[in-house]
Amino acid sequence: MGLLIDLDKCIGCGQCIEFCPFGALEMVGGKVEVREGCTLCGACLDSCAYEALIIEELEATPAADESYRGVWVFAETKDGEFSRVAYELLSEGRKLADARQSELGAVCLGHDIGAVDSLIAGGADRVCVVDSPALADFPEDLCARKLAEVILEYKPEIVLAGATALGRSFIPRVAAILGTGLTADCTGLEIDPETGLLMQTRPTFGGNLMATIICPGKRPQMSTVRPRVFKPDAPDQTRKGGVIRLDFNSEGVTSRTKLLSFVEDLAETVKLEDADVIVAGGRGLEKPENFAMLEELAGALGAAVGSSRPPVDEGWVPYPRQVGQTGKTVCPKLYIACGISGAVQHLAGMQTADVIVAINDDPAAPIFEVATYGIIGDLFKVVPMLIDRLKNG
Ligand SMILES: Cc1cc2nc3c(=O)[nH]c(=O)nc-3n(C[C@H](O)[C@H](O)[C@H](O)COP(=O)(O)OP(=O)(O)OC[C@H]3O[C@@H](n4cnc5c(N)ncnc54)[C@H](O)[C@@H]3O)c2cc1C
Repeated sequence: MGLLIDLDKCIGCGQCIEFCPFGALEMVGGKVEVREGCTLCGACLDSCAYEALIIEELEATPAADESYRGVWVFAETKDGEFSRVAYELLSEGRKLADARQSELGAVCLGHDIGAVDSLIAGGADRVCVVDSPALADFPEDLCARKLAEVILEYKPEIVLAGATALGRSFIPRVAAILGTGLTADCTGLEIDPETGLLMQTRPTFGGNLMATIICPGKRPQMSTVRPRVFKPDAPDQTRKGGVIRLDFNSEGVTSRTKLLSFVEDLAETVKLEDADVIVAGGRGLEKPENFAMLEELAGALGAAVGSSRPPVDEGWVPYPRQVGQTGKTVCPKLYIACGISGAVQHLAGMQTADVIVAINDDPAAPIFEVATYGIIGDLFKVVPMLIDRLKNG
């Protein structure tokens, strides 16, 4: 991988040096050389009449190559720690690997990556670690090429990643380099017992249909999965596994991106994804002031306040509170839905909650089909009664 100069063809005319927007080519002893700063943009290639510059590409993936074995999880890190979604995917990946009677691997890239044993405790049989100062800010272009290179070397037949902000931007690059398919935002993964193919299920047509997608002709089969769709297994500290540390050669390659700063979304004071209890309100709340009642109930329960989409669209509550297909996916121990009908797009974000309590005055509301406990009644009467009971016993 990289820009190569065919010294037999290079006549040292220097034409390419002028075409390089990054000043990454120089003349040394009458021939062109690549120095630090090359981004592999390819601008120099057309400038050379002698075809002396070549970008060495990774080999294309052979179609459905049988030598591909095992399931891999891309273990994303943030502030030096593995994201929860990595453990969620390991738990699901373990089932897929067992169904294929193969190994479960985890792969991580970055700098100062610690605690890889936790990935083994989470279900991985082995962990591949690419640790380099050059990857400290996770330059996506370099990381994508490296991950593609590692995948081509170790040949997992399935690669899973979280549909996080990073996963959504980084993993498609990896799939494109490998020339394989990627199913984004999956909500279900299963192995077809007959063909052994990964069946990747995701909502489509605005969430009105569930599509099951397969990738029969290319390897690996790649999917991203939203955080909180699967539950992590309890860590098993007795599990044993191997750790492979791989080099990253940063010579001759420079990222095209530079992280200037990381700006935290200060508007997002409520971390819905991390809440054990969520009290959510829908259009049935009627107006923004009525959310104060939910805040009070949430306060009494130590809960976070969520919402269906209409209150967000109406500007009653900010977007980070939205639960559902185009909002957050949550998996709390308790989810109390107040004045929410239970549209499929809302259910997509909360139906894996351990206990769902629905308060709705319409007995035919679809939310009751997924509710553990249903309260048919006026929320303006029921919620104050709950608050009173919680506060006054
Ligand atoms: C592409 C797409 C993506 C979407 N993404 C999302 C998403 O991420 N999240 C989401 O939530 N929606 C999403 N939607 C919208 C979704 O289809 C529904 O329109 C929405 O979930 C409905 O919200 P709701 O239940 O609050 O409102 P409604 O469907 O209007 O339901 C209000 C409920 O409140 C009840 N009610 C009214 N008054 C009272 C009262 N006094 N006491 C008790 N109950 C009462 C009613 O009986 C009713 O069941 C999406 C839609 C599309 C097309």
